[in-house]
Amino acid sequence: MHIPDIRLHEPRTIAEACELLNRYCDISKVLAGGTDLLVDLKQGRITGIEHLVSLRNIDGLESVEETGEAIRVGALVTLNQASGNETIRKFFPAMIDTIGSMAAYTIRNVATVVGNIAGAVPSSDLAPFFVVAGGEAELSNGESQRRMKVEDYILGPRETACGEYEILTHLLIPKPPPRTGISYQKFMLREANALAVAGVAARLTLAGSIGGGGGAGGGRDVGGVGGTGGTGGDGGTGDKRGTGGDRSTRGTGDGEGGIMDSCIAMTAVAPRPVIAREACAFLEGKEPSKEVFREAAAIARESARPITDIRGTKEYRFDLIEVLTERTLEEALSRARGE
Ligand SMILES: Cc1cc2nc3c(=O)[nH]c(=O)nc-3n(C[C@H](O)[C@H](O)[C@H](O)COP(=O)(O)OP(=O)(O)OC[C@H]3O[C@@H](n4cnc5c(N)ncnc54)[C@H](O)[C@@H]3O)c2cc1C
Repeated sequence: MHIPDIRLHEPRTIAEACELLNRYCDISKVLAGGTDLLVDLKQGRITGIEHLVSLRNIDGLESVEETGEAIRVGALVTLNQASGNETIRKFFPAMIDTIGSMAAYTIRNVATVVGNIAGAVPSSDLAPFFVVAGGEAELSNGESQRRMKVEDYILGPRETACGEYEILTHLLIPKPPPRTGISYQKFMLREANALAVAGVAARLTLAGSIGGGGGAGGGRDVGGVGGTGGTGGDGGTGDKRGTGGDRSTRGTGDGEGGIMDSCIAMTAVAPRPVIAREACAFLEGKEPSKEVFREAAAIARESARPITDIRGTKEYRFDLIEVLTERTLEEALSRARGE
């Protein structure tokens, strides 16, 4: 196995890069870190490519920016750079966990966040994270930009909505609303350099706002979030939930505010990331509890479309989805509560 003869282009602008992609059309590919692409070329999974258009020398793609509403990740930001970024750490600990579960440190030094989405590999770890976080892909053809949801961008295995001479220049992640938690859990066959057998990301947003009245009888959701029991909320006076009771028992009942919004997305169990829409509809308005999460997980399982392959059987993957969904919901809840 060897990489076929290929000409490497190193344009300095996005317009130049797009012009090259246009000129060489279906015999060219964008090159970022190369950790997927070079392996695919070497193993003959992708053939007929004669030109690689590297993004390496293009300015403006190497940073993580915090805009008013979102975090914007450039196409050259590596997994390790993202993982070390303070803004990402602050807003998206689940993204840090996700990256920590991927490949190995040396690969993460080269592999890019954007490349993980642009490659549209069905076991992508970051894809479900971006889907539940409401992430958007920013595309450029050198002249104009357009944006679309990551869930619409990934069409199937190695297939995206990227036009032939478009580049995915940035990924945007909207800052999460208050009382939102995200989690990603993955099962893999060994600790490093292993793709997901199955993975699930979940986002939960709880109703109400933290600290909106403390023990002074504030809003309905305050009682469960570190107040002194909440005298004015639905939870009722004397409810121990707000006074440091065992929160791991879940089942917080009313007073905390139910689940206002949620999203569950899975990887490695279908050709593209799947959103467990029925499970999310089930969760809406419910008070979070172990039982509710268990039922949601059983519903989520039905959205998976797994196959049997070298990493696991179809049946095993169905079971994994159920277990992982429950775990991600638990962790997302803890994060939404600020625990
Ligand atoms: C040993 C090993 C372990 C791995 N482990 C994991 C893992 O645990 N989880 C996981 O999800 N992945 C894993 N991967 C896959 C890979 O590392 C990631 O998908 C990586 O993030 C891809 O980024 P890259 O910069 O290397 O992309 P590249 O290989 O450069 O590109 C990937 C694809 O996306 C296209 N592309 C890249 N950037 C753009 C862009 N800006 N615009 C348009 N198209 C673009 C390329 O043309 C190519 O088709 C592993 C890979 C290896 C080799």
